Amino acid sequence: MICPHSSCKKNFTQPLELFNGIWFCPHCKKSIFPDENTSLVVTEENYLKLVESDKIFYSKWLANREGKDRREKIEDLKNAINLCMESAYLKNPYALVNMGFYFENNYVESHKNIFARMRVAYLYYNAVCYNKKDIKISMSKNSKPTSLDVEEVNNIKKQAAINLYNLLDSIPKGQEKNVLGINKTLKFEKEKIVKLLKELGVSKLHSKTEEVDSEDKVSHEVIFDLVVNASKSAKSFLFGIFQISKSNIDNLIDKTFSTRLGKKKGLGDLIEEGKIKMKIAEVLEVKGRISEREAREFDNIDSKNVLLNLKDKLIEGLYFVFLFNNMVDNEYLPKTGAQRIYKIMTNDNDNNIRKYIQDGLFNSYIFTSEDIYKFSGKLPNYQKSIEALHSYCLEE
Ligand SMILES: [Zn+2]
Repeated sequence: MICPHSSCKKNFTQPLELFNGIWFCPHCKKSIFPDENTSLVVTEENYLKLVESDKIFYSKWLANREGKDRREKIEDLKNAINLCMESAYLKNPYALVNMGFYFENNYVESHKNIFARMRVAYLYYNAVCYNKKDIKISMSKNSKPTSLDVEEVNNIKKQAAINLYNLLDSIPKGQEKNVLGINKTLKFEKEKIVKLLKELGVSKLHSKTEEVDSEDKVSHEVIFDLVVNASKSAKSFLFGIFQISKSNIDNLIDKTFSTRLGKKKGLGDLIEEGKIKMKIAEVLEVKGRISEREAREFDNIDSKNVLLNLKDKLIEGLYFVFLFNNMVDNEYLPKTGAQRIYKIMTNDNDNNIRKYIQDGLFNSYIFTSEDIYKFSGKLPNYQKSIEALHSYCLEE
């Protein structure tokens, strides 16, 4: 695809994607995430990707809802969502609405809490239902794009608007900023969507009023999934801080996975092999901070034995776990850079880990090489990248 910014216009195959789901051009690093001023278009290429995605999602994934082979079907689900994402990168409006649905309903980025996922869905729906440009269609390479049929435009906007209405309706008190961003109010957003729905001819709406669980605690499954899939690649996690209970730590220690050669391995093995670095500290409650949490002294979990001993050593309660993927080595972050990041985060009595915790940047904030790359200058200064990423998280 081609960067839409006139000062850049460079070609690339995949955008940079940050921890918060926003896309950036890998050349000029400006945002290319769709909004109301983005020209949406249905093309032969993005349409075929979407059709294939829907086919896999409905026939292979949903049809097997109760099936015993659900785990094997996970690959089908990933495949369906990847195709939809590729279609969304190419600005297909239907794919954007579908991606919003996948985020909202926990089909993607399951490690994020519900509000972080609702935030992404909110942006996807906004880009479609408030779109100011003429939505186009161009089903062959040689033909000029023409305007999409008015009725069809209405249908797609209606779907986005209904989804957005339901999403706004299910935001619990106190979570508005997490979903809408710091500059918007829920009252204004609700009035705006009701007005749009009226214009689109939708009057009767059923409230979802689903209970949203807002407890800020991460399960062992989320962490296990990350570490098992840790790799060199840019999409793999680089580091994250998690608030986790003692019983979930026990699960982290006990659970194993099968390698391709059929060997059973656990988190302890990955630590022993130097693939994962881990630190753990007891949570200390403090009043008056954003997160109202602090970490006591961090312990280095540097061998399988130290990890196994945690089971007897730790008392019931909450802990902060810092996890670092020591394998990262890719086009956005070389191995030496990754090692620098580990030093910067842990230097001076884990000062940067503490800063991230004090500002509530844990659980849903799982960073990859792409996040570091976005915030590094021409000559990488990783200290500055870490600080810039920190500030960006607070402003977003
Ligand atoms: Zn660009």
